[in-house]
Amino acid sequence: MNEKALIAAFERVVRAEHANPQRHGCPGTSVLRQLAERPETFGPGPVLRHIGQCAPCLRELKELRRPCGRCKREIA
Ligand SMILES: [Zn+2]
Repeated sequence: MNEKALIAAFERVVRAEHANPQRHGCPGTSVLRQLAERPETFGPGPVLRHIGQCAPCLRELKELRRPCGRCKREIA
């Protein structure tokens, strides 16, 4: 399974079952950014397990993976 497929699979499950509006146990933006930029430094572990169970983290991770952060602001 490649990375995109992995994230897409996460997303389907997570959106439905793990809304987590209180952001319980979230690792924080700096960790998510590291995962976005250097996914090879993360093995299976608590962070990936958490993201697999947390819709807000998954959404944040996807946004961090966009090549151009400024585009979002110009659209909004
Ligand atoms: Zn989270």
